[in-house]
Amino acid sequence: MQSARIIFVTGTDTGVGKTVFASLATGSLRHHGFRVAALKPVCSGGRDDARQLHRAAGKVLALAEVNPWHFRGALAPRIAARQENRPLLRRAVVAHIRRIARRFEVVVVEGAGGLLSPLGEDFDSRDLIRALGAEAIVVCPNRLGAVNQVRLVLAALPAATARQARVVLVNPQQPDAASRTNPELLREFMAPKRLWLLPWVEI
Ligand SMILES: [Mg+2]
Repeated sequence: MQSARIIFVTGTDTGVGKTVFASLATGSLRHHGFRVAALKPVCSGGRDDARQLHRAAGKVLALAEVNPWHFRGALAPRIAARQENRPLLRRAVVAHIRRIARRFEVVVVEGAGGLLSPLGEDFDSRDLIRALGAEAIVVCPNRLGAVNQVRLVLAALPAATARQARVVLVNPQQPDAASRTNPELLREFMAPKRLWLLPWVEI
């Protein structure tokens, strides 16, 4: 059976808008008639992201499938998992995502934290992107410093993945000089069509 396209939503940091973007993308794909699932395979310190993705995908999966691994500590998942004596390995997470991918056309996967935040004992989001052959979307707040942060994340991705990666700049409520000029500056470092701007949204 043909496997889904896997879109991995990562970011320059935690709390940058990954869930907002992943939910909007999932809803939009559904609206366009794709069979889409959204996963937050690993989360720590609350399950709100998973619930939001669960709703965005129209509850096509159980919450326990959207998010099989959740840990109480509001810490990097590797540490939160150790505190509960439930160390997590990459192969379990990759196997879960692949299993879901067999049933859908598109799977949107939200990482946890930034690209290199340690998720389990032997992996971070970059390792998942690599193992899954996923497309990467890098979410970054559109503020002073964004160009450096985006370039760092793109530099850390495998070169072929980085060339195809999309960048989402999340605009602030109040634009400023940096947020107005960042897109133009970033386009000097990447294919312009791969840069998207997300207006400020409250959801
Ligand atoms: Mg999130």
